Amino acid sequence: MALYVQKYGGTSVGSLERIDSVVKRIDRCLASGHHVIVVVSAMAGETDRLIDLGLALGAQGGEREMDMLMSTGEQVSIALLALALKAHGHASRSYLGSQVAIRTDDAHTRARIIDMDTKRLSADLDDGVVPVIAGFQGVGPDGEITTLGRGGSDTTAVAVAYALSADECQIFTDVDGVYTADPRIVPNARRLDAITIEEMQELSSLGSKVLAVRSVEFANKHRVPLRVLSSFVEDDNQNTGTLITHEETVMEQPLVSGVTYSKDEAKITFVGVSDEPGVASDILGPVGDAGIEVDMIVQNTALDGRTDFTFTVRRGDFAQAMQLVREVRDQVGGREVVGDDGIVKLSVVGVGMRSHAGVATTMFKALAQEGINIQMVSTSEIKISVVIAERYLELGLRCVHSAFGLDT
Ligand code: ADP
Ligand code: ASP
Ligand code: MG
Repeated sequence: MALYVQKYGGTSVGSLERIDSVVKRIDRCLASGHHVIVVVSAMAGETDRLIDLGLALGAQGGEREMDMLMSTGEQVSIALLALALKAHGHASRSYLGSQVAIRTDDAHTRARIIDMDTKRLSADLDDGVVPVIAGFQGVGPDGEITTLGRGGSDTTAVAVAYALSADECQIFTDVDGVYTADPRIVPNARRLDAITIEEMQELSSLGSKVLAVRSVEFANKHRVPLRVLSSFVEDDNQNTGTLITHEETVMEQPLVSGVTYSKDEAKITFVGVSDEPGVASDILGPVGDAGIEVDMIVQNTALDGRTDFTFTVRRGDFAQAMQLVREVRDQVGGREVVGDDGIVKLSVVGVGMRSHAGVATTMFKALAQEGINIQMVSTSEIKISVVIAERYLELGLRCVHSAFGLDT
C-alpha cells in the first residue's frame, strides 16, 4: 500500500467531464489499496481570467487583493472534485491552503511555503477520506491569504508529498511526461522516461513550464520522489510518464537532455558608457534597488575608453528598467540607452555537458545555418543559453533540437 499525492492541473479539471476522469483515476488507485491526497489547480483559463479582471482595475500595489482574487479559482475546483468523489461513493473533503495550514512568508503573489500541518490530512487518511487541497495558495504570518506564483500548485503538491512522506508526488497534466522540448512548438520532441532533477531544475528555471521551478527546487532539496504523467491516458500501464530522478545520471545519458525557451525577456544596452571602475554598479545599482532581477550581463571591450553595457530583465520590468538607466545616463554621461523587448532566451540543458566539450559549437552552428544571429550568450556547467530575436524562436528551437539528435 502506497501513499500518492496526485496533482491535477487546470486542463485536467477544466470541465465536469475532465473532473469525472480524475475521479475514475482516483477510484482505480484506491481500488488497488493505495491512499491518495489530491491537489488541484483552478479550472483551465480561470487564473488568467481573474488576473485580467484585477489588472483592468489597476492591480498596481494591490498584491494582497490580487491574492484574494486569484486564490478563488482553486476554491471552485476543490469543491467540485470533492462533490464528484462523493457522488461516486468516496468520502472526500476539500481544503483551502489555510485549512491545512500551508504556512508561507508574507510575499504576496510569490510567497514561499514554510511548513504545514499534517494532522487533518493524516486523520482523513486513517478514516478513508480523500483530502482535496487547493493548490497555489497558503496563509501568511498574519493569517493573510497568499499565492505561490504562477504554476504554484506543483509546489503545493511537492510540499504536501514531503510533509506526509508520500511514496510519490504525481503531477498529472495535459502532456504525457517531460519532453526534450515543448511538444507544442517542436513536433519532433521525444518523451523522456527519466530526467535528473538537476536538469529538470535548469529546464524549469530557463522557462519550461511543465513543472514550476520552485516545485523542482523543493523536491530536490528534500528528495521528494516526483513524476509527470498524463491525465488524459486512461490505461495506467501505458501512463508511466517521466520520472524525475535523484540520481546524478540516467540510463544512456545524452549530451543534451532538453531544449527550452523563455519569452519573458527584454534587453537594455547602455551605449558608449565610460570604461572605468564603478560603472557596472552605477548602472545596475538603481535597477537592483527597485527590486528588478537582472539575468544576463555582457560588457564589450572598450575602444577609446568607451564601451557598451548590455543586460536582460523580465519583460514586465522593461519599461521601469529603461527609465532607471536613462536617469543614470543623465548623471554619468554616455551616448544612449537602447532597449529591445522582442527577444527570447533559448537554452540547452544536459548533465552530459560536464564531460564533453563542443556543445556550444554545435548549438552556434545550428543557429548560424538558419541565419539566426546570437545576441548574447551565457553558460554554466550544465546549460548554454543564447538570446535571439523572438521571430526566430520556433525555427531556433527546432534546429537546435535536431542538431543534438533529439528528434524522434
Ligand atoms: P498544468 O495546467 O497541468 O499545470 P501547464 O500548462 O502548466 O499544465 O504545463 C504543461 C505544459 O507545459 C504542456 O502543455 C506543454 O506545452 C508545456 N511544456 C513546456 N516544456 C515542456 C516539456 N519540456 N515537456 C513537456 N511539456 C512542456
Ligand atoms: N492556477 C494557478 C496558475 O494558473 C496555479 C497552477 O495552475 O498551478 O498559475
Ligand atoms: Mg502548471
